[in-house]
Amino acid sequence: MPEPLPRTAWLEKPGVPCEPDPAARARPLRVVLLGAPGVGKGTQAELLTARRRVCQLSTGDVFRAAKAADPCHRSPALEEALGYMQRGELVPDETVIAIVKERVACLRCDGGFLLDGFPRTVAQAQVLDQLLADEGLGLEAVLSYELPTARLVARLGGRRTCSNCKSVYHVEARPPARDGVCDRCGGPLVLRDDDRPEAIMVRMRAYEQSTAPLADYYAARGLLVPIVAEGTPEEIYARAEAALEQRTAAVAAAQR
Ligand code: AMP
Repeated sequence: MPEPLPRTAWLEKPGVPCEPDPAARARPLRVVLLGAPGVGKGTQAELLTARRRVCQLSTGDVFRAAKAADPCHRSPALEEALGYMQRGELVPDETVIAIVKERVACLRCDGGFLLDGFPRTVAQAQVLDQLLADEGLGLEAVLSYELPTARLVARLGGRRTCSNCKSVYHVEARPPARDGVCDRCGGPLVLRDDDRPEAIMVRMRAYEQSTAPLADYYAARGLLVPIVAEGTPEEIYARAEAALEQRTAAVAAAQR
């Protein structure tokens, strides 16, 4: 597994200079990853990052980084956001949008981006459209990972996350070599607060109510690419790459 990309500018210090990977620059990808909690979006983001060397811009990771940081350095808005996250509820749009706007340099990056967990509401999607339009940029696709709800709930309960490098495992489907220890960095694997059973149901409801409508929003703009999220992570990844290739070929054909 190649080294994870440094995401300091996204996670904690917007504005710090950051050099995009040459491989990403040669073929920048600008996509949104959409999918219910537990669908395996994080694992797919890891694979896309490893192969395409493009940064995973996850708003959930921003909140988790803030939680791990010294509480004295948290703004009141971030402090409040962590309360929502702990309960599995969506953080209010104004807070999330302010956080993304602060990090707009990451959207502008000529290595492209993988947006993971943002947008999560139609209001957030509209702001993203505007931010990209202001930069003269557009999305290549919205990859929408799909799986039945019962499978999602089972997956979330077994998920374990490295508290150090954030790699994601599953007690049955993707166990680490040593129980409770991250294969990549040796860090401890933990059950995220928002993967506890009581928070899971709240997250599922929030997804159905607020995020599922985004599929229609992006379908209407011709950007939605549904991906069946059954099978191994590699199989799902191959489906997404094939779909992206197909879109690129279709766009090239239309321009000829
Ligand atoms: P995630 O890692 O994407 O599942 O995000 C973890 C939690 O962070 C979510 O359950 C929400 O509480 C919060 N969160 C992350 N991104 C957003 C967003 N775009 N809008 C609202 N809340 C968010």
